[in-house]
This record gives sequence, C-alpha cells and structure tokens, in this order.
Amino acid sequence: MAQLTDDCFAFSGALLPLPEMERLIAERITPVTDTERVPLRGARGRVIAADIKAPLDLPPFDNSAVDGYAVRHADLAADGDTTLTVSGRLTAGARADLVLEPHQAIRIFTGAAMPQGADTVFMQEDVTIAGNQVTVPKGLALGANRRLAGEDVPAGRVVLPAGTVLEAQHVALLAALGIVEVEARRRLKVAIFSTGDEVVEPGANRGGAAIFDANRYLISALLEQLGAVVTDLGILPDDPAELSRALAKAAAWHDLIITSGGVSTGDADYVRTAVEKIGNLVFWRIAIKPGRPVAMGVIRAAPRKDYAANAGAAFCGLPGNPVAVFVTFVRVVKPLLLRLSGARPQQLLPLPVRVAFAYKKKKDRREYVRVALRRAADGEIEAFKHPQDGAGILTSLTETDGLLEFPEDTTSVAPGDRVGFLSFAALMG
Ligand code: AMP
Ligand code: MG
Repeated sequence: MAQLTDDCFAFSGALLPLPEMERLIAERITPVTDTERVPLRGARGRVIAADIKAPLDLPPFDNSAVDGYAVRHADLAADGDTTLTVSGRLTAGARADLVLEPHQAIRIFTGAAMPQGADTVFMQEDVTIAGNQVTVPKGLALGANRRLAGEDVPAGRVVLPAGTVLEAQHVALLAALGIVEVEARRRLKVAIFSTGDEVVEPGANRGGAAIFDANRYLISALLEQLGAVVTDLGILPDDPAELSRALAKAAAWHDLIITSGGVSTGDADYVRTAVEKIGNLVFWRIAIKPGRPVAMGVIRAAPRKDYAANAGAAFCGLPGNPVAVFVTFVRVVKPLLLRLSGARPQQLLPLPVRVAFAYKKKKDRREYVRVALRRAADGEIEAFKHPQDGAGILTSLTETDGLLEFPEDTTSVAPGDRVGFLSFAALMG
C-alpha cells in the first residue's frame, strides 16, 4: 500500500546510530498520500494534510479580561483617584457597539466586547462605588485588562502546519476559529502478528511450555494510541512457509506489518527466510541498548486489480521479549509510523532528573534504563533504577515511570548526576 522502494531500509555499516536511523526514515519513506475530510469531533490523533490558516482574528474582537469597569485612560488623573459616572453595563455576549463617552465608565464583565472609546479596564476589587459613581485609583497602565482582537492569532496566520498530529489543544484552537472539518491524511493500516510455537492466546488452554501472548496486546495498544487502524492477525508458528504466506496476504491490505519474536540470533532464519521470499529484509542493528537488531523490510503485495502492482507494505520484525518490544517500538517503529502517516517528526526532549544510582555504559551507544521517580528529602526529583533489568521483565515497565536516556558519549554516572528522563507518556504519545 505504501510506495516504498525495495532498498529503502538498507544502510552501510554494522551499527546504525539513532540520528542516522532518523535520517534514513525522513529521506526514504514517503507518507501515504490519500486524504479525507474529518469532522472536528473525531479529529483527535489525526494528521492534518495541509497548513491551516486562521480565517478570523482570535479573539475576534477587543474584550475585557476581568469583571470591572471599562474607562478611557486619557480621563484618568495621573496623581490621584478619578471619579467617573457609570453610564452602562456590558455582559459577555451583550453587544459590541456601545460607546463610552469621556468621563464615564461602563460596568463590564469578562469576555464582553470593549465599548467603543474604552481602552482600559479596572478590576472590580480595585474600585469604590457610590451610587452611579465609580472611583478608580491612579497608576493603572493604558490597555490593562483588555484583550486585543487577534492577540492570540491574527487572521491569515498559519496556526497549525501540515503534519500536526491533532491533540485536544489543537482541536480546541480549531473550534475557537470556527473550523469544523479538517483535511487529514488517511489513518495508517497496520497488521500485527506474534510469532512463536510457545505463544498462545491469553485465556486459551496453555500447555506446560507455553506462555500467553503479551506482545500483540502491547503493540496493538501502542498503535491505537498513535491513531493507526490495527488488524490483529494472531499468532504464527515458527514456520517460514506459513509466515511468508500470512505476511504476503497482509501486505496487500496494510501499510505496515509488525511482528514480534523470531528475529534473535537463534531463530532469525524463520523471519529472514519468510520475508526474503516475498520481499527485502535488512537488520537494523541500532546503537541503542536495549536494542536487539530489528528486522526492517518491504513486502511486495500480491498484485491486485484495484491498485498499483508495485505497492507494498513496510515490515518491522521486533524482538520477542516484551521490554525489547517496547523500547524498539517507541524508538524505531514510532518514528517510521509517524513518517508514513505524514506527521512531523516528534521532538523528544528528555528532562534532567537526579539519578540515585551509579551506572556504567559503553561509549557510542544510547542506553535506556527503566526508572521510577520519587521526590527526595531536599525536594528534588530522583530516579531509581528498577531492580530487574531483564528484557523479559514486564513489571519493570509497570513499576516504573519512564526511561532515562544516557547519551552516546556518556560512559558512567554517579549518584547525584543529572540525566535526561523520558516519561512513558512522552514516549508513547
Ligand atoms: P524470540 O525472539 O522469538 O526468541 O523470543 C524471545 C523471548 O520472548 C522468548 O522468551 C519468547 O518466549 C518471548 N516472547 C516471544 N513472543 C512473545 C509474546 N508474544 N509475548 C510474550 N513473550 C514473548
Ligand atoms: Mg520465538
């Protein structure tokens, strides 16, 4: 379905540094081109296909930021109180054409249009009322408590560039601008499989040597979070013939196929043999830890009448251990998925926290360590490493808050050092 060249995942060199991986994805992967009109209400998570410009000023008119009294600043005495006659009252939504005459004030409420001639608003807490007279103190700046038309967004400005993934705040901005429909890229269609003779469906009869499938549930939840349409194709046995049959079939209907298991050194051949029969495969050994090689490829779809014969699906073969699945998903699959979906690359900025443990690592690779955050006695946030760091330890993901990111050039840290932290929410969103 996606238009990918056979060699789009090829690279030279034994280890692929993360920035190089990001560059490969940006340069070689072309996003899906189909777009559709999406009503605002269903737009969260969608990728907008073109820049969106503001059709009007926001706010649309000058208005009061507080409950109080609108005045002409020129009427105010510089050296003492000023008493003005209250000549009218403006509630939010009332009218936009009331005129404020000199030496008068208008009772005004938050969100009401500024009367013509008024430029400044006193908060009601700061004034004294006597009958229809209001006395205001000196010293308030011209324009205080007034919100100007267009101060948020002037009409005509690009407010959301193409490739923005719409979150609640973007939807709110579009609503405020009166935009009720957006042109969005179509959602990605992603097929997922687990592989492994030992893997069975949760809840099914489980033999003594079998485990319940955690990965399909993990991957499917991660994909849904990213707005993909997921087809869950179940569990495949460690059998290249069956694997390639299932993958070729899935390639005809999906943009991306993700499997887990069967790519570690011991059994790499299942996936390698299967994919190489029906497409192209390379292993990305990325300079990260945890980071088993991830199998990347393009699977040619069986030709179908309804679209071009060169259409194929991207393929990601993730490791089998759930923690390795998680890390490779957020660091490899997610950037690929965002690119395919037409989204702008995500900026991940780790926030510095204090580490409560010593750690040594190899130079020239990035390492991710699962940590829980706690507030220390001195008020600072401290990161504690999960005691079990095996790639199969699922509770190391449920009992922690996110990952510390140790940069390539770091070789050791001591307690008290600061290291960048990425929350699970930041990594998954
Ligand atoms: P593999 O890469 O296939 O050798 O798998 C590595 C480890 O991950 C093995 O212990 C597998 O049993 C385990 N594993 C593979 N697939 C799954 C899965 N879907 N859910 C949970 N664990 C899995
Ligand atoms: Mg396996």
